[in-house]
Amino acid sequence: MVDMTQLTDRMQEVERRIAEACERSGRKRDDVHVIAVTKYVSLQTAEEAYRLGLHHLGENRWQDAQRKWEAISGPEAEGQNGQAVWHFIGSLQTNKAKDVIGKFTYIHSLDRLSLAQAINKQASQLAIKVPCFIQVNISGEDSKHGLPPEQVRDFLAELRNYPHLQPVGLMTMAPYETEAQATRPIFRALRQLRDELNEQVALEQPLTELSMGMSNDFEVAIEEGATWIRLGTILVGKEG
Ligand SMILES: *Cc1c(COP(=O)(O)O)cnc(C)c1O
Repeated sequence: MVDMTQLTDRMQEVERRIAEACERSGRKRDDVHVIAVTKYVSLQTAEEAYRLGLHHLGENRWQDAQRKWEAISGPEAEGQNGQAVWHFIGSLQTNKAKDVIGKFTYIHSLDRLSLAQAINKQASQLAIKVPCFIQVNISGEDSKHGLPPEQVRDFLAELRNYPHLQPVGLMTMAPYETEAQATRPIFRALRQLRDELNEQVALEQPLTELSMGMSNDFEVAIEEGATWIRLGTILVGKEG
């Protein structure tokens, strides 16, 4: 059973902390969007989170997300759940693009041209334009996906060849730190990279978004300019 009180309590607590981080850093609350990452929880909890108003839902594997997507946004759910917006936040295999594109509105893990090509192909068949975040490996850890920062500029230029893909910003994952403040340089570097790219690369539309900050470090990410924070454990919990 989902403990609804617990879910509303968590939502209120997270909301309070977001508001405080915005206030500390002189940011508008409306400029920070929350993605509820439901990858650790049951379908029932994901539905409850949606019903309680968490309309941006994040998943990192299509195999695990499919049941939730169908229940919340599939043909049978139509009408009731029209406001759900799905974010694909995990690394995406090129052969999975056909499953995900058209269902997930945002892709947060664009990190190679073969994937851009696969997304573009699928999006072109559906006659849609897919907003994408370029994932950047700021920390340089081997375990992290994403482009090295120095390659993002050329990558962005190449993306002009894929008109069904709209680069909207950058995404990164900070290494887990027991002290959240230690992640600050990572988030700051992502923001600086975004600002530099907007100056250096002639883009149709500037990169406005920064997808950064998770349960452990979202307040620091907000202070450094996050526009999308991706919250799993602290917001919807972790089950099983
Ligand atoms: C799992 C995941 C999250 C959420 O993690 P929590 O620490 O539980 O908030 C955020 N972003 C990505 C890319 C993830 O894979």
